[in-house]
Amino acid sequence: MINKIYGYFHFHNNHLKSAEHISNIRNKKLCNIIRHAYYTSGFYRDLMERAGLTPDDIRTPADLALMPVVTKDDIQKNFNGILSRKYDLSDCLVRTTSGSSGKMLRVVWDSFNLQSRFQLYYRAYTMIGYSPLKKLLYFLPEVEDPGFTFGLFRQKGLTLDQPFDQVRDFILNYRPHILSIYPSYALDLAEYFRPGEMKRAGIEAICLNSEMILEKDRRLIAQKYMCPVYEEYSCVETGVIASMCREHGMHIYSDNVVVEILDSKDKLCGPGERGEVTLTALNSFAMPLIRYKIGDISSLSEKKCSCGGQMPLLGKIEGRKDDYFLLPGDVHVPAWSIYEAVERPLHQHNIEHLLLNDFYLVQRSLRHADFYYVRGPHFTAVCIDEIVSRAAGLFGKGFVVKAHEVNDIDRVRKVKRKYIHSEII
Ligand SMILES: [Zn+2]
Repeated sequence: MINKIYGYFHFHNNHLKSAEHISNIRNKKLCNIIRHAYYTSGFYRDLMERAGLTPDDIRTPADLALMPVVTKDDIQKNFNGILSRKYDLSDCLVRTTSGSSGKMLRVVWDSFNLQSRFQLYYRAYTMIGYSPLKKLLYFLPEVEDPGFTFGLFRQKGLTLDQPFDQVRDFILNYRPHILSIYPSYALDLAEYFRPGEMKRAGIEAICLNSEMILEKDRRLIAQKYMCPVYEEYSCVETGVIASMCREHGMHIYSDNVVVEILDSKDKLCGPGERGEVTLTALNSFAMPLIRYKIGDISSLSEKKCSCGGQMPLLGKIEGRKDDYFLLPGDVHVPAWSIYEAVERPLHQHNIEHLLLNDFYLVQRSLRHADFYYVRGPHFTAVCIDEIVSRAAGLFGKGFVVKAHEVNDIDRVRKVKRKYIHSEII
């Protein structure tokens, strides 16, 4: 109970504080977690000793560059060694995650960490209009019990296996103000609303999560649900990494994670430069995660947000590193560059119009991919030629991309839609 109350006040207003205050909190938490990991996790003790480091060497995010990075493989192989000796697994929640990489990880949440997660999700929704008297509806594969919430911040979680018509009826009955939802799920669900029902549902804002979000989908969701659409970026390993304010600034949760953007040689990228998102979790004590490469691609921005909030801004999250295409010679083509090749012709023709309703690019072999598409209301054949030639150009000479028009695109996953997939990695 003390943890819950502490958690609530611990995070509640940090996003409204001054930049100096936020960086002080972050640095204090960073020193704390580094010390904790050094003294209670065998894996991090070894890692730091091998690098000739003691906790006093790491006091700010800039000092983190002295620490080696940790990959999903490292975590899989050293699970027991990473865990803090101070925590008993039976007092913690253990979850598994695969992200989109298919590499399953076990993740351990201590009770403070669990409460931090809830409080930070509340903050994410508060930033887009949630308030103690409003209702939230969220969709997840598994619904966690938030426990004691002071009778405020009413909320309901639904699992993803419910029939859509029942979910629609639930929404019309419950009338949530905020929806937290996967983009592909939101698009599917919208089809089940009859004329006039969406207006009656009265949803005030939508927070999208978990999947790569394309601009065309964000616009479509805003149109169908008749409300503003925002994004939140989180992972099972650390909880919320960043979320959008009402001005659509993606604010990094500096009191929950240190975000570093690293290039392929694990060197820090400059502002605006794309690289791999690397996280140090500041509120995860049972399972410390320091310089953990999550596998997503993004950039840091030096811009200030027009909302006045001082938490730093993250650039566009450009897709999972693991969604690459593999070319002869072990050449990897990252997903974001494929997205760019496919999406740019669509935007160049007309960003406001839907040229395609859906597409799916799948790599079948080292030299062949299929591009499936469903015509949109403003379809032109020219854009398909451009997409195919851009994609073929990206993958190099001898690589063939074949376009196929279809009425419906079979999904790789039932709920989590993938636009780009390689069958050979
Ligand atoms: Zn903002």
